[in-house]
Amino acid sequence: MRLQGAETLRLSEVGSSLVETRDKAKLRQQLTPLQYDVCINKGTERPFTGEYWDNHEPGVYACVVCGKELFASGTKFDSGTGWPSFWEPVDRESVREEEDRSLFMRRTEVVCANCGSHLGHVFDDGPRPTGLRYCINSASLRFRRG
Ligand SMILES: [Zn+2]
Repeated sequence: MRLQGAETLRLSEVGSSLVETRDKAKLRQQLTPLQYDVCINKGTERPFTGEYWDNHEPGVYACVVCGKELFASGTKFDSGTGWPSFWEPVDRESVREEEDRSLFMRRTEVVCANCGSHLGHVFDDGPRPTGLRYCINSASLRFRRG
């Protein structure tokens, strides 16, 4: 398996999140291979290939693993990156930020605060009013219209 060592190390660092303690075999059944790679192995979907980067419907984006509401369509913007981009989570408490030093870069990883599922990264080059850009994988999200 790819990055087995690194995965084990990082999973041990996140503590007692649901993703870690939940039966991984169950998650493999629940998620598509892409969703599993992104959410559990902290992978990244290829840009412009995901389900939601170009979605402009009104609604809420929830965690694909646990269903917690994470981002709202009202804070989604066209970043041109090919990934769903938001300038704010629905609630400050809904996501958790962690330092990510992988790939020789210093980035801020964003995970679901409820289950620890990997979502994407946050950058400080976003639009007003926050100036933040939450760059999120479609594979980490489930869209609910409305
Ligand atoms: Zn979650």
